[in-house]
Amino acid sequence: MAKIKSAYFCQSCGYESAKWLGKCPSCNEWNSFVEEVIQKPGNSVPEWKGSGALSKVAKPSSIHEITYKEESRWVSPDAEFNRVLGGGIVPGSLVLIGGEPGIGKSTLMLQLALQLKMKKILYVSGEESEHQIKMRAERLSPQTLPKDKNGVFILTETSTQNIFKQIEILEPGLVVIDSIQTLHSAHIESTPGSVSQVRECTAELMRFAKETSTPVFLIGHITKDGSIAGPKILEHMVDTVLQFEGDRHHVYRILRAVKNRFGSASELGIYEMQGAGLREVSNPSEILLSQRDEELTGITISAMLEGVRPMLIETQALVSPSAYGTPQRSATGFDTRRMNMLLAVLEKRCGFRLSAKDVFLNIAGGLRVEDPAVDLGIIVAIISSHEDIAVSSKTCFAAEVGLSGEVRAVNRIEHRIAEAEKLGFERIYISKYNKKGLDLSKYSIKVETASKIEDVFASLFG
Ligand SMILES: [Zn+2]
Repeated sequence: MAKIKSAYFCQSCGYESAKWLGKCPSCNEWNSFVEEVIQKPGNSVPEWKGSGALSKVAKPSSIHEITYKEESRWVSPDAEFNRVLGGGIVPGSLVLIGGEPGIGKSTLMLQLALQLKMKKILYVSGEESEHQIKMRAERLSPQTLPKDKNGVFILTETSTQNIFKQIEILEPGLVVIDSIQTLHSAHIESTPGSVSQVRECTAELMRFAKETSTPVFLIGHITKDGSIAGPKILEHMVDTVLQFEGDRHHVYRILRAVKNRFGSASELGIYEMQGAGLREVSNPSEILLSQRDEELTGITISAMLEGVRPMLIETQALVSPSAYGTPQRSATGFDTRRMNMLLAVLEKRCGFRLSAKDVFLNIAGGLRVEDPAVDLGIIVAIISSHEDIAVSSKTCFAAEVGLSGEVRAVNRIEHRIAEAEKLGFERIYISKYNKKGLDLSKYSIKVETASKIEDVFASLFG
């Protein structure tokens, strides 16, 4: 009997060590090492035997002789998904779709599988039974459920050995794994979901994807701190990492490319969660702006950028006298530290007495905003609520605010102005430093420029 071999793995980054360590030398995490039993047979053969195309000896070639063809991508019927992937599915790519449990990752992938009619698709689930998946599929698209041989095949299996056996028989054109944390390889003794298992199973699937040019999608659950449960190493191994995020209580979901070897890593797709599945949102601004007739205080619109796509979002602020000794500060969809910084700027530079006030901030639609261009809109929303003066719903903002209260320039200002104009806004406030090189005469929207936040307040509130 072979001797049982074990090693210690950092649960945070996947670093392997022969003995237990208090601090990980790779990611500096404390107390992250866990012993995992690994047992490899004398000469371990990779699970995927395949053609052996990758084991050919590589020879150097002159850069002039290297020819390549534009990767032929498969364009799926889901335009948002194509955009995030950088134009479609690349054959042989290994794509990780991460997100919190229950956010809709399985729905997204099952829906994609049902829509992709040109290929035989294998959907491997270690999470749900066959009839659970069938019920879900019927709910998603009862009439489009494919009836032909080329369609979606469901396999409930967690052993990579058995999965590859079925793949050899079925020869699918695309494989979905739901989820990578449920798989286990016979070469590793530790439990599914552990660092060594996740790493080995991903490596086996990668070998399969590259040798057969079959795209493989891995679903991965994310831990509370935002990283893929298990090792960070998983993110390094795959070609593309997509993050599926959103507030479970809101209807909107965002698919974000975090890493992409075949395209831009700043792209983003928006979906609306409906009873019958996920619907693409092709014009996000129209949905993210609430329909209102009367003007309300504490509400402003900002022209922000997600990836390269401009969109307009609504910020709501509520400033009220604090009932308790310590004022409450809370922000939904926006960094609380940044909100505190903006409040300090208002207090120190403009003399607003906010220290005894509760301040609540909310980004509409359940989105999380990181673009600093929303600063000005947020500051104006706070003052609008504080002074009880409404800002016109035809006015929007796009500028960063600095520590001394200066209004700073933001990138791609032309796109933001153009989007605001397209959506019928009449006025946009930007930084004076963004004006350079802008041809303001070509816009029908009135572009106001400012260098200090006081200028903006004077113009809006008098
Ligand atoms: Zn580590």
